[in-house]
Amino acid sequence: MAMGKQETSALIQWIRDVATAESDSLAPYRDRVMHSMGGVTVLLLTPFTINNFLQQRYLVALILLFIQALTFANVYAVRCGRPVPVPFALLLVPFLAGITAAVMIQGVPGVLWSYPVIVYSYFVLSRRVAIACSLAMLCYLSWLTVHYIDSALALRVFGTLLLTIIMINIVLNVISDLHQTLAKQALTDPLTGCFNRRFMEQNLEVLVARAERHPIMATVLMIDVDLFKPINDAYGHDRGDLVLQGIVQAVGERLRRGERLFRWGGEEFLLLLEHTDADGAVVVAEDIRRAVEAAEILPGRSVTISIGVGQYQAGQSVEAWTKTADAALYRAKAAGRNCVVRADVVDVASATA
Ligand code: GH3
Ligand code: MG
Ligand code: MG
Repeated sequence: MAMGKQETSALIQWIRDVATAESDSLAPYRDRVMHSMGGVTVLLLTPFTINNFLQQRYLVALILLFIQALTFANVYAVRCGRPVPVPFALLLVPFLAGITAAVMIQGVPGVLWSYPVIVYSYFVLSRRVAIACSLAMLCYLSWLTVHYIDSALALRVFGTLLLTIIMINIVLNVISDLHQTLAKQALTDPLTGCFNRRFMEQNLEVLVARAERHPIMATVLMIDVDLFKPINDAYGHDRGDLVLQGIVQAVGERLRRGERLFRWGGEEFLLLLEHTDADGAVVVAEDIRRAVEAAEILPGRSVTISIGVGQYQAGQSVEAWTKTADAALYRAKAAGRNCVVRADVVDVASATA
């Protein structure tokens, strides 16, 4: 049965989705890669297209011309900053058709095109799908060689294609590891391992931007280590660093999924609690405060924290929101430290002023 328009667009959407899956570390660079690769492909295929026409291998020539036209359309779209008209993954279909026609008509020279096409699949599909597709292509291309050439060559095609697939995966694993390491370094604070201030600002900006579209419930805890300077003075800066790590560990053990701890700077931290109002946040804050007090971070001397709790109020900027929690923290310090204070109307007003 012929495919309806809806099914076709659903299929194209599916291909787009799998090609931009989260697991795909190449996805952000796809347009750039495709732009250079597509340009080279169009140029490189031209003599082959002309030669196939001259040799009257019209089927192969037409498929090549079709591939060149689709690739050119994509390269042109990328160059103009427009979405590509043909999803990159869909180009695999004419590529395979071209190889099939070339093997059927020319034999061995056609098989050689299998190698770039296998590599190409890893540039246009998410990793899991590319592995599945490349293994399927491996079987198909080996079968094609057995069928139209001979099994001795097919065995070699199978071996060399498999080796190519393994090598691509090794290289992509290295890239993916590097990608993760760099992403981690860009988002975390090297001393404590919690998220850094830059990532915190991004998180809060995203939340506040979302709040402009529909109401959100979120609360921040501004956490400050009590009398940390005397600790540094008594034990030294290095020991002070260990104390900060101990506090982060004690807080981290109480965190639930989706709760994010950021290092605001120095000995101050910010904990973001989404979907939590001030009442819920005070409970979390108390729990954390007690956990730090109970953790034996420095032998014979208790290490404590003070916490200001600020719930997001509609219309607030990130700055006003965090200032609210900071004002509450200030009052916690004034109240004798080692306690939790919730922002009140006065804090909200002073933060917005
Ligand atoms: P309060 O209870 O009022 O917060 O007193 P405090 O002593 O904690 O506050 P103050 O702001 O006077 O001191 C903070 C100290 O934190 C001063 C600074 O040297 C220290 N500090 C900031 N960052 C680091 C760090 O990365 N490692 C170490 N060891 N100390 C740090
Ligand atoms: Mg401080
Ligand atoms: Mg302090």
